[in-house]
Amino acid sequence: MSESRILQAYAQKTPGSARLYERAGRLFPGGVTHVVRAMQPHPLFVERAAGSRKWDVDGNEYVDYFGGHGALMLGHNHPAVREAVIAQLSRGCHYGAAHELELEWAELIQQMVPCAERVRFTSSGTEATMLALRVARAYTGKPMLIRFAGHFHGWHDHVATGAEAPPGILPEIAARVLLCPPNDISRVREVCDGRDDIAAVILEPTGATFGQIPCPPQFLRDLREITARRGIVLIFDEVVTGFRCSTGGAQKYYGVTPDLTTLAKILAGGHPGAALVGRAQILEVMAPRRSGTRTELPAVVQQGTFNANPVSASAGITTLRLLCASDLIERANRTAAAIRDGWNAVLRRRGVNWCAYGEFSGFNLFLNPDKEAVSPQDIYAGKVPWTKLKGATPIELLQKIRAGFLLGGVDLIGWPGGPVSAVHDERDVDQTVTALDNLLTMLESEPRT
Ligand code: PLP
Repeated sequence: MSESRILQAYAQKTPGSARLYERAGRLFPGGVTHVVRAMQPHPLFVERAAGSRKWDVDGNEYVDYFGGHGALMLGHNHPAVREAVIAQLSRGCHYGAAHELELEWAELIQQMVPCAERVRFTSSGTEATMLALRVARAYTGKPMLIRFAGHFHGWHDHVATGAEAPPGILPEIAARVLLCPPNDISRVREVCDGRDDIAAVILEPTGATFGQIPCPPQFLRDLREITARRGIVLIFDEVVTGFRCSTGGAQKYYGVTPDLTTLAKILAGGHPGAALVGRAQILEVMAPRRSGTRTELPAVVQQGTFNANPVSASAGITTLRLLCASDLIERANRTAAAIRDGWNAVLRRRGVNWCAYGEFSGFNLFLNPDKEAVSPQDIYAGKVPWTKLKGATPIELLQKIRAGFLLGGVDLIGWPGGPVSAVHDERDVDQTVTALDNLLTMLESEPRT
């Protein structure tokens, strides 16, 4: 048993999860089905969810900021999405054929996302970024990829590497990735000036992990200019930010149009679904080629059993329509701002030099490893090194924070922080602010390690 009182209290509150975790240990490596769901002493097993809340197998209620890993902009089980999905299920879940819903879904995307001249659906964000890179390499005939430290693009081989290949990934693939520090435009210029073999640059346009390392809009404008001049394909990974920063994603909000964009999560209204969208000329590499009377396979061949499946399409269409016809995105932004402000007020009152920051409908807690005075403005001005904003906190502290919030009835993503939905309300904000206050009290009486 852990010496941490917080982890002990969490274990006492969640005996049903502990029992299921025992079973999970005999089934799944590490007892989990996604690496970020792992936690000490056991993960939370959830039974049901509605709106902004979810309930674990012991009947405990939580304000949920996992939000389906960011997919649930309308919260859990939104009535309009549920009805659309049920209606579609009664008409069939997979036709193995083209269908009108995929057209409607793609037309909406075309209208909403500035760069989306053409659309190709995939089943996950990982597949979408994998396809984006293959398309960019096929289109340019060049092998190299620039990406940025800390930015996440899924778990396929081309984005899971830095300069070195982790076990399981071929060194030859890692050698095709030029990893740059985030937000360092001189470094990008230097890398590009020295060579002519770069196919693409990929980044999260609000910065690593939905702005945990914020990205200044000027960096996007500079990147656009550098890549356009050199014929390098600029890819915005808007798997999280698409339909969250604005109805047309970060690119519409900032007025910077990339060549390609990857979309997922909100795109499919909480169901599996994603897309690669972008300039028609580039995506043409996926169209079959005509040679005289013969039709040949496209340069880039894409399959996928569940691409544009009608159930995900129905959830996606309903969600995108609701976002277009309402102020739901702004509502989620206001709620996230209230959480950030509430947390910063608690931190100031208690004299704790952590700091809440974030943009749009996101909030992050900066745990300030060097304990220097810091404000959200310092983070946005780039005064805090990116290495301190992401990956600097010991896992033991992160686990206590997550468990401490769960004791306060709040489930955060382990950044710590989370994406806010359009259905989180004032009561959720109050509970989230109180949970931080209580966590700080609990941390004060933790045994020193
Ligand atoms: N890109 C970004 C920015 C993401 O946040 C994620 C997932 O969280 C992915 C890509 C991968 O998406 P998926 O989990 O659907 O494969």
